[in-house]
Amino acid sequence: MILVEGKTAERKKAKGKCLVYGCNNQARKCKSFCNKHEKESRKEKNPYRYWYGILRLNAKRRKKVFTISLEYFIQFCKETNYINTKGRKSGSMSIDRKIDELGYIEGNLQILEIGENTRKKYTDYGKYLSEFKESPIDISDIFPEKVPIDPDEEVPF
Ligand SMILES: [Zn+2]
Repeated sequence: MILVEGKTAERKKAKGKCLVYGCNNQARKCKSFCNKHEKESRKEKNPYRYWYGILRLNAKRRKKVFTISLEYFIQFCKETNYINTKGRKSGSMSIDRKIDELGYIEGNLQILEIGENTRKKYTDYGKYLSEFKESPIDISDIFPEKVPIDPDEEVPF
């Protein structure tokens, strides 16, 4: 984000325009940027908080449980280098729920390469169930029965 300076900045400010170079949008009330650049500036200032917010929003939209804290998410990102490897292209990493139905809870997240994550959805569910049994979470209470994997679901975030 390149910001205008000096006279141009003053002129844009007076008009209530966004202060990003080349942006002609109206700035938000009492803010220096338009909606789009306000979002971008938050992302630059605190990428962890930004991506945490997006993840939580997506979880809500997909009606998934979401109980991880920002602190946990930050720790997860640092351990996995997720922020620097995330993306939509092949080879990029995505956050995977080890057991889909458990949602975004501590211990249920890992990062997977995008293609791998998609493939996983089509493989035997039981394999993941047994893998997960080695983790500290006891899923038998929360997840008593097999639920079919929805092949139409989007690639996780
Ligand atoms: Zn703008």
